[in-house]
Amino acid sequence: MKGFVFNIQRFSINDGPGIRTTVFVKGCNLRCRWCHNPESISPKQEIQYFPEKCVMCGKCMEVCPTGAHFINHFGEKVFDRSKCNCCGLCVQNCLYDALIQVGSYMEADEVIETVKKDIEYYRNSGGGVTFSGGEPMLQKEFVKEVFDRTKALGIHNALDTAANVPWGDLEYVLPSVDLVLLDLKAMDSAVHQQATGVPNERILENAVKLSQKEVDIIVRIPVVPGINDTEGNMNKTAEFIKDFKRLARVELLPYHDMGVDKYSSLGKSANEAVFETPSREKMEKLAACFSKHNIAVCVE
Ligand code: SF4
Ligand code: SF4
Repeated sequence: MKGFVFNIQRFSINDGPGIRTTVFVKGCNLRCRWCHNPESISPKQEIQYFPEKCVMCGKCMEVCPTGAHFINHFGEKVFDRSKCNCCGLCVQNCLYDALIQVGSYMEADEVIETVKKDIEYYRNSGGGVTFSGGEPMLQKEFVKEVFDRTKALGIHNALDTAANVPWGDLEYVLPSVDLVLLDLKAMDSAVHQQATGVPNERILENAVKLSQKEVDIIVRIPVVPGINDTEGNMNKTAEFIKDFKRLARVELLPYHDMGVDKYSSLGKSANEAVFETPSREKMEKLAACFSKHNIAVCVE
């Protein structure tokens, strides 16, 4: 079974407890305006181009079968994505890392071999493997195969999901999942729709069903100014999750602009993705909405 993966990050400490290996799959069914992993959104291969690294050596122009790389009449190097079929030849021939291919099909075996390399670190730190994305649940067979096999090896499995999928899909992978990192964006469905492209009813229904299963849950909330950074939204979220039986904690993740530069490398505009970073004081205030319901909360 192959999955479509855009990164495997070893020694990750932000995607669940302990030291982890995070497998990032490519393809997402949300369009969060603040997304800091724009390379995770499309379910297709993409070419990233970093003009600041280009030394105009001309190699890409020589090898590209479709003429997507050329020098225009101003003497500038141009990459015309509309002509690109993602064959990867230019990437292989660029010695300066100005071109990078994003997304590759990987066998479950290959992923498991990488995950196994750090098994001692997981044991010593309480870590394991995390599937993130993109939306891992859009590749449920691949996720299940990897998780079934890592569980058999005694590795802790965490699934990072926005839960915007049919309940049956979540039920299918859950037997091998130890922890769900449940991403909740906004409690008001109209706000959710406007900010992510989809309403939240199915997500919230799935969240309630997950809370009734024997699986640990960490609720993760990106805090984005002007979208969901109100005490009203956090109070509603706290009310909604306070009776989840295996809720470990809430993690509030302040918006940061570290992904903004990636947009232009993919030929996309970052305008919609630029927000202010919330202050520490603001984050503490929002965290208090959970503390007052006796919900453990941390600010990343
Ligand atoms: S191969 Fe790389 S460095 Fe050379 S012209 Fe193309 S993008 Fe620039
Ligand atoms: S990936 Fe292939 S088609 Fe696309 S620009 Fe590079 S060489 Fe040309």
